[in-house]
Amino acid sequence: MTHPRRIYGHPACDCIAQTLPMVEARLKAIGAIKHDLSGLVTQGCYRSRNKASAGTHAGGGVWDVKASLVDTPAKRLAWRESGWAMWHRQPHEGPWAAHGHGVVIGCPHLSWAARRQIRAYRRGRNGLRSNRRDQGPRVPIRNWKHAVKSWRKPSRPKPKPRRHSDTPSVSINHLRRARYADPPKPGTGLGPFAGEVRVLETALVKTGWLRRQHVDGHYGTSTVQAVQGFQRKHSHARRPDGWLGPRELRRLFRLARMRVKVTK
Ligand SMILES: [Zn+2]
Ligand SMILES: [Zn+2]
Repeated sequence: MTHPRRIYGHPACDCIAQTLPMVEARLKAIGAIKHDLSGLVTQGCYRSRNKASAGTHAGGGVWDVKASLVDTPAKRLAWRESGWAMWHRQPHEGPWAAHGHGVVIGCPHLSWAARRQIRAYRRGRNGLRSNRRDQGPRVPIRNWKHAVKSWRKPSRPKPKPRRHSDTPSVSINHLRRARYADPPKPGTGLGPFAGEVRVLETALVKTGWLRRQHVDGHYGTSTVQAVQGFQRKHSHARRPDGWLGPRELRRLFRLARMRVKVTK
């Protein structure tokens, strides 16, 4: 069912209506129009009496527009990418002033004459009796529904540029969990936070609390003892628990001259 309606004062079918936001957005993007097509449509559809148009405007899906909307390849591209077979008609081609003549591809309301123009467009012809070559630009021919669909497809959010940062970060919670969960002996599997434990161990090496050969990602006995030593000295802890709070951790990394982000 089609309900002929008037848009910008001219009869239009639903197919035309659906493509307009896309057409207007594209024409606007290249500066061909300011806002919309109001005042720029010169002939609508469902007009059987216009002899010059040879019946192409008798059904739906066909509009004429001002030449200023179609007189460059970029402008025609805006229409053509939006599912319109749009031509820039020149005065020497027929009994008319320069204008744009467009047929919506895939519109079921087209007159027989307009259908023939779509077939000519698909073959790269101008859709006139002269059957000359199409003026271009050639674009992949798709019907208006397809055009609307691919236009509406939300563009994927760009992936955030990966900040390549070599500042490691450790989480206090992760380290605490490693301190109590890691098996005490080396040679067993590494825990999920081994990378962070290794950062801690490296800081303990740099501050003289741990031997380098004990840097293994295990929060095992040697690591616990090294941390306890650090706590006794710097936190004056009587019974050091073997894991560091935020202030202690930041202090350790500062003393080790390491840039490490400390998180919760
Ligand atoms: Zn026309
Ligand atoms: Zn239609």
